[in-house]
Amino acid sequence: MAQRDPDCLFCKIVAGEVPAEIVREGERTIAFRDINPQAPTHVLVIPRQHVPDVGSAARVGGGLVDAIAAEAAEVAAAEGIGDAFRLVFNTGSGAGQTVFHVHAHVLGGRGMEWPPG
Ligand code: IMP
Repeated sequence: MAQRDPDCLFCKIVAGEVPAEIVREGERTIAFRDINPQAPTHVLVIPRQHVPDVGSAARVGGGLVDAIAAEAAEVAAAEGIGDAFRLVFNTGSGAGQTVFHVHAHVLGGRGMEWPPG
């Protein structure tokens, strides 16, 4: 799979071609604030490599999903919500995925309801 998709918004953020409020950068992942936050803390964690969704990321192997989850936990801790946060991978347009570069939503800082909408 290509490391980068030239038409992908999040690949452009990785490349610094589209501005984003980056909160953490790692070797394999970057984390930045969602432009339309749904909670007081709403950060997206993405791999630098272009992979469309979480299932594809699992199939890529090499611990990529683990790296995203571990980084999400680090983000939550750094944001002061390490004891109560929600980690969401919308997968497929029917589930609300709009950007097809896998991303974990790290949400917290308010009460969360279940089931989600
Ligand atoms: P999805 O709907 O699960 O695919 O999530 C995509 C997320 O990306 C949404 O929550 C958007 O608000 C967010 N988003 C879209 N464009 C940008 C951007 O340029 N910077 C930061 N977040 C973005």
